[in-house]
Amino acid sequence: MKYKFCPKCGRELEMFNCWDEGEVPYCPVDNTLYFDTPRPCIVVGVVKGDEILLLKQSYIYKNSKVLISGYVDQDEYAEDTAYREVLEETGIETKNIKYLGSDFVEGKELLMITFMAEYKSGEIKKSDEVEGIGWVKIDDALAQMQEDKIGTKVVKKIIDIREK
Ligand SMILES: [Zn+2]
Repeated sequence: MKYKFCPKCGRELEMFNCWDEGEVPYCPVDNTLYFDTPRPCIVVGVVKGDEILLLKQSYIYKNSKVLISGYVDQDEYAEDTAYREVLEETGIETKNIKYLGSDFVEGKELLMITFMAEYKSGEIKKSDEVEGIGWVKIDDALAQMQEDKIGTKVVKKIIDIREK
């Protein structure tokens, strides 16, 4: 987020010229610079053989399925967030996580850290947060997730990796 007021003392922030960073909101009382802060979020494609795990969550996209995603907690490795979110949302344990690159959601202040992971164990046991979960053939996945732009990029990367 872009700070206008100091989160510590409530004072309206001044702009401070911070060399390469340009003008940055600054609290002279607390002597603190408040840089813009996108929130880190993970997206993970879980692969089992030639299938990938897709969720249906209508509050995100009405007509598309999505990959598993979630916010990185304070003091948590993004990789651990990915393992945790998959387990929490689907009941599935994963292994061999692989970083696929970062992305962002325009205007949403989110930094998306994307991964693929392999199925390790467990049966699908969906959380209340999720409407539906299922294994979908990787080759059919893209047609079912048109609204999920970042998820689509992740699945394309997974397809590329598998073809090598
Ligand atoms: Zn302050």
